[in-house]
Amino acid sequence: MKRQLNDSEKEIVKKRYRKDDGSINCFIDNQPIHDEKDIHYDHINPFIRSEDSTLENIAPVCRKHNLAKKDMTLSEYRDKLEMENIFEKIENDGLQVKLNDVLKYKLDDDFGYPVIYNINEEQNTVELSFYKDKQKLSLPDVKEYEIYYCPTTGMKYFYASVPVVNIMNDGKEESELELQPRPLILPHLWSLYRHLRVNTQLQPSICRVTNSSPVLMFDGQHKAAAKIWAGANKVEVKIYIDPELTWLMRTNLVAHDKLKQLRFYSSILADKLAQLYGANWQKYIETADKKTEKGFCHYIKYAEDKPDEKPEKQIEAFLIISIINNEENEFAQFIAPANKTGKQYSISWDSMRKYYFRYFLTRPPLTVEIDSKDDYRNLEIKNNIELLNIIAKHVLINKWNPNASNADHKKAERIFRPGSIMVWFPMLRDIIYNKLDLVNPDESKIILFRSIPDEKWQIIDQFIKKLFSHPMWVDNDANIDVVLGNKKAELTKELFKKKGFTVEWVLGLLNN
Ligand SMILES: [Zn+2]
Repeated sequence: MKRQLNDSEKEIVKKRYRKDDGSINCFIDNQPIHDEKDIHYDHINPFIRSEDSTLENIAPVCRKHNLAKKDMTLSEYRDKLEMENIFEKIENDGLQVKLNDVLKYKLDDDFGYPVIYNINEEQNTVELSFYKDKQKLSLPDVKEYEIYYCPTTGMKYFYASVPVVNIMNDGKEESELELQPRPLILPHLWSLYRHLRVNTQLQPSICRVTNSSPVLMFDGQHKAAAKIWAGANKVEVKIYIDPELTWLMRTNLVAHDKLKQLRFYSSILADKLAQLYGANWQKYIETADKKTEKGFCHYIKYAEDKPDEKPEKQIEAFLIISIINNEENEFAQFIAPANKTGKQYSISWDSMRKYYFRYFLTRPPLTVEIDSKDDYRNLEIKNNIELLNIIAKHVLINKWNPNASNADHKKAERIFRPGSIMVWFPMLRDIIYNKLDLVNPDESKIILFRSIPDEKWQIIDQFIKKLFSHPMWVDNDANIDVVLGNKKAELTKELFKKKGFTVEWVLGLLNN
């Protein structure tokens, strides 16, 4: 497709592009190319039907832009820069790009002209008047279409090719009963635009018509926007005639939910990120080669208009909530909800975060590919629930009972004193590290971020039982509660050591 121009052909192109002042401008940004030796030549439009590149389709381009455009033709590259600018401008204002923005850019304010429809029951047709101005001053173009009926709902619709000036996107920002189309996404629009320049459009966009407004588009906006961007003056659409709006809203929502399921993530975290970050998550997924927590955090810092929001913190919070709110978590009933206290709870939400999860949840952001075989986040959630359930089974369930305040309760209370958990949670991690036969100390930082077979859990269960069987937990020495109430890890460590309660003791490495 690409061929070398000979000198006389170059002269012909240069002559056509040479300005009155003698300069030759770059096709991309229309800036003069000072040294003619720096002129490169390339195709303006893509060639699909013919390989014959006539000189009319060749233009001069500067060195810099010739390098930057890669495999695009000149007009494509110029369009891409233009499209990126529009998105940047709108998104910098904290807004999302809609079909109307593309219309406005391409047509100034000359769009959004009303249409009026008339149903002819006998003929089973609908007559549409497409007006050519907002005030309906000039005579409209009138066209007739056959009506179809949805066999399930009886809704009426027809197919048409509608002038772009008679189209707008559905939904106003404040209105509640409107179909809110989703915002346009730059990489989507760009790839569709490139595709539709040389291929036919298979499916129409979906609209509705109510009298005296433009045709309102609520689905398939990208196709229409891509066509309009390419200079089309009509777009192909399927139009519902004054449909029952709540019904259509529901249908549209369900349809998009189904689409979302097509992109099903096995990763619980990815699902949550998709929910929370919506369009930005989608954009990231579509543009990043390797999708990681770290990559997303980096991306979102630039994409979101809330610079104070820390995506790492959000990810950590999702993971913690996924663990605690899981209905299989039997430990959760003993955790006080955030900012709450009460004697029915054995541990506060804040202490869980500070003293438990710091040891048993791998700190985000990870650099492993999300949803890849190395991504153990789902298993880490499952493992944490397993571990917490074992702890609950041994010391809390049917034991934590502040009203009775019996021996079991007093033991559990001692175990969950702040000064206590600060020390035995990390001890527990070391015990698990040992029982999983890990050798690289770095593995302790990702202790539950792995697959742990059932046999291993049974062993861990036995050692947790032993951990809570130490006589110190029921020792009458009043000094123990004084020390554990101090919230000073060093003092607790000293006490545990004095009482012979150590990792080595739990593992049975001591002769006692
Ligand atoms: Zn240039």
